[in-house]
Amino acid sequence: MTIQPPTSIALPAGPSGLADIFRYCPRCGGERPRLDNNRSLRCDGCGFLFFFNSAAAAAAFIFHRDQLLLCVRGREPAKGMLDLPGGFVEFDEAVEECLRREIREELNLEVADFRYFASASNDYRYAGVPYKTTDLFFMCEAADLTGIRPGDDVADYVLAAPGAVDLSALAFASSRAAFGLLLERLTRDRERP
Ligand SMILES: [Zn+2]
Repeated sequence: MTIQPPTSIALPAGPSGLADIFRYCPRCGGERPRLDNNRSLRCDGCGFLFFFNSAAAAAAFIFHRDQLLLCVRGREPAKGMLDLPGGFVEFDEAVEECLRREIREELNLEVADFRYFASASNDYRYAGVPYKTTDLFFMCEAADLTGIRPGDDVADYVLAAPGAVDLSALAFASSRAAFGLLLERLTRDRERP
């Protein structure tokens, strides 16, 4: 059987996206495997069952004195928008290792002592495929920015007072949610006697 790929896949923004991508069973080639709750792919023909899992990602609020270090995205999705340093956790990698690696790749900075802050779910569309992610947010300090240099998928970096950041300029809903929590935390800390 020859399967002709569609010349273009126009995906709806909603959760039906995966059903339009997985049109055949990857094991037996049967048509239209069922998508249960947008979580699993099930083929009635051969019994194939595959779960789609949320990908773990980590991002850091890096403070330098009273300012936050933010990246400007150099690639799609959301090219040109602000983003927190971080990225997807690799297989067999600890979240803290992921953060150290991503911050090294993106900013040429060595940062440690991450403190867990909050988590939020996110929808991340890459190359036309919708992915679900679980984003973990940490806080840390960078005392010395000597040698900082944007790299990997980062076009530039900015230092800004947290309260001066326009949240609508942040690339992802999860980052905007975590940033909102951070501003609440900073306000509470300031008002504490
Ligand atoms: Zn099958």
